Amino acid sequence: MSEKKQKLGTICVQGGWEPRQGEPRVLPIYQSTTFKYDTIEAMGDLFDLKEAGYFYTRLQNPTNDSVAAKITALEGGVAGMLTSSGQAANFFAVFNICGAGDHFISSSAIYGGTYNLFAITLKRMGIDVTFVEPDVSEEELIKAIQPNTKLIFGETLANPALAVLDIEMFARVAHAHGIPLIVDNTFATPINCRPFEWGADIVTHSTTKYMDGHATSVGGCIVDSGNFDWEKSAEKFPGLTTPDASYHGVVYTETFGKGAFITKATAQLMRDLGAIQSPQNAFLTNIGLETLELRMQKHTENAQKVAEFLENNDKVAWVNFPGLKSNTYYALAQKYLPNGTCGVISFGLKGGKEMSQKFINALKFIAIVTHVADTRSCVLQPSTTTHRQMTDEQLHEAGVPPELIRISVGIEDVEDIIGDIEQALKKV
Ligand SMILES: *Cc1c(COP(=O)(O)O)cnc(C)c1O
Repeated sequence: MSEKKQKLGTICVQGGWEPRQGEPRVLPIYQSTTFKYDTIEAMGDLFDLKEAGYFYTRLQNPTNDSVAAKITALEGGVAGMLTSSGQAANFFAVFNICGAGDHFISSSAIYGGTYNLFAITLKRMGIDVTFVEPDVSEEELIKAIQPNTKLIFGETLANPALAVLDIEMFARVAHAHGIPLIVDNTFATPINCRPFEWGADIVTHSTTKYMDGHATSVGGCIVDSGNFDWEKSAEKFPGLTTPDASYHGVVYTETFGKGAFITKATAQLMRDLGAIQSPQNAFLTNIGLETLELRMQKHTENAQKVAEFLENNDKVAWVNFPGLKSNTYYALAQKYLPNGTCGVISFGLKGGKEMSQKFINALKFIAIVTHVADTRSCVLQPSTTTHRQMTDEQLHEAGVPPELIRISVGIEDVEDIIGDIEQALKKV
């Protein structure tokens, strides 16, 4: 393609798949578990990681690789991989460099599933986490670092707390201590924020949300910026910088350079844990990605209007949307997400948890679903659903008070969306 760096809207449509003469215009679904070779030697080299090539879809598949390449280009990274879900993406991203006896730091304002993964499941595996407030001071963040701390984690725009991560500050602290910053960029998408430009080293996604955007496919993605120098802090990352016995002693940083992190996550974690995305889902995600820029513009624009409507309604106690001037994170949002944040808004009604439930039940086309970020407007009360397993204290710590209503503003006509909210508010 052209030498000039393409704009995001072009990458959304064209990225990741360049058919040669006579090949399908649309990225095909390589619905094949396996791939054919002429000699046993040729295939043997693949197993030693001496040659790159496809041999089994659990490790790599051309449809998946094309979609990963598109997302990698959108984020401005050097290598990427798809996973079966966003949960798998965050697990792999952390587990690729943390093992039993290691520690990491995470913002406490993160997705409920990620919170459980970190606080409970990883703990059972001997990996310890310290949660810090999303608006922690630089001093406090530095204090949380221990000799065995291997990474810092946060979400660009927290789901559902909508806290905006001060990516530059978190990256500065991480790098001063020889560790990477991993940012889950699901809610912002690379259309509204590109964390690598602010110093993040690894980006993860639940592609289930805006990337697919149509609520058809659960999926995840990990992208590496290629910027983190693993060898500089080699003693912290032996999995990347010392021989891997399961591949005849390959040293990932030596053999794969900037591709080390993703190669290890693919060759080792995907091989052993197997959380691969199905090529069918990757195909559907790719169709979604083609309109990502258009949809993000519409989601963001609609959400801004809905947030302003809610803020001016006297039954509404509070509105949390970083695009509102009254918001704690307005300044950070202006810095990191100048074109808008996302379509998700959280708010509380004056009548508390009970009134919130009545309101939700009175909505008509804004449906109750455990989802966000698809074309259809939808609503949920996290404290009674996604965050149900958390105590009141944990809920407040995660920025999700019990009365919180999360609304995901879709791309319908905004007058109809506001109309539905207005009629439901009249009934409570
Ligand atoms: C949904 C979500 C996840 C988990 O992704 P799944 O695809 O549901 O496994 C992780 N992080 C964020 C920010 C999310 O919104």
